[in-house]
Amino acid sequence: MAEKTQRLEIVTPERKVFSGDVRFVVVPGVEGELGFLPEHAPLVSALKIGIIRVQPEEGKPFKVAVSGGFVEVRNSKVSVLANTAERDDQIDRERAEEAKRRAEQRLASKTSELDVARAELALKRALNRLKAAE
Ligand code: ATP
Repeated sequence: MAEKTQRLEIVTPERKVFSGDVRFVVVPGVEGELGFLPEHAPLVSALKIGIIRVQPEEGKPFKVAVSGGFVEVRNSKVSVLANTAERDDQIDRERAEEAKRRAEQRLASKTSELDVARAELALKRALNRLKAAE
């Protein structure tokens, strides 16, 4: 009997980040991590800033840093529409370090609440990218 597989597609408004058959994928749902094997029940969930862990059908496991979006599971297909997404090997660590420094500086200087909220999100994105690229 053929082994069961599922399709994973990760796209952003800008580009396709990944498309392929995977054994297992874990995504950062707003209410916690969601893991999908083939034939998972249909589901839609919002995503938070976090890391998608992919075990492809062929090749080594990898991570994708995402900064929120949505996941839909249907007919053994997992579709991720992310605000931004980068595979671990595509992450520019220096850029993320720089973004982290900028956000930390903004948080250290007393600014408006809006700036604080934005800086906190920028810091989360930067720390997430650094974690994914580890
Ligand atoms: P920065 O201040 O460095 O732009 P940011 O968190 O504000 O960071 P985003 O708005 O989340 O950046 O992303 C803008 C675009 O740049 C997206 O296409 C995202 O994939 C890409 N990107 C951001 N940071 C990195 C990084 N460190 N390595 C690779 N791509 C990145």
